[in-house]
Amino acid sequence: MARIFLSLGSNVGNRAETVRKAVIAISQLTRCVLIKESPLYETKPVAGPLQEDFLNQVIEICCDVAPLSLLDSFQSIEKSLGRLRAERFGPRAIDIDILFYDNLILHDTYLTVPHPRLTDRLFVLCPFSDIAHDFIHPVRKKTIGTLMHELKERVGGDQKVLRIEG
Ligand code: ATP
Ligand code: CA
Ligand code: CA
Repeated sequence: MARIFLSLGSNVGNRAETVRKAVIAISQLTRCVLIKESPLYETKPVAGPLQEDFLNQVIEICCDVAPLSLLDSFQSIEKSLGRLRAERFGPRAIDIDILFYDNLILHDTYLTVPHPRLTDRLFVLCPFSDIAHDFIHPVRKKTIGTLMHELKERVGGDQKVLRIEG
């Protein structure tokens, strides 16, 4: 079984409910088990048009489905929860990204793993660090905790992320 980390984000409709439904749908995929869920974070959009704030979460699953089939399943879940393919970095009901798939390094037309932008995003690194700060990025050879601290120093207050308690 592969150890897989996913990033979830929503900024359209009932964000918390949609993220919840996505986690349930992911945990119900065959040959996938939900291991850990981070707290939710409310975050300012870092790119794209003027739009609502996001709710973001990182989850860990264990799964023996191959990476590209897994991506397919996630895109079906996105669609079933009302995601419309529109403007890049635009508003979306739900976004599910594969951050890591064990220590796999993959550059496929449809899938790049580790996710190439995760190290520039506090909305990924903060919730990630809450559940697996010791996980080592297979390319950068640094822990998620270290990558988060380095990014915080680099961006200062420029990326606003707020952990939602409870
Ligand atoms: P970003 O990737 O910067 O977070 P995004 O999530 O808004 O942007 P999407 O429009 O959701 O981008 O996805 C565009 C394409 O990215 C998908 O159709 C998928 O084939 C591809 N993709 C490449 N690597 C990944 C990955 N690690 N996880 C999810 N999708 C990926
Ligand atoms: Ca994304
Ligand atoms: Ca995506």
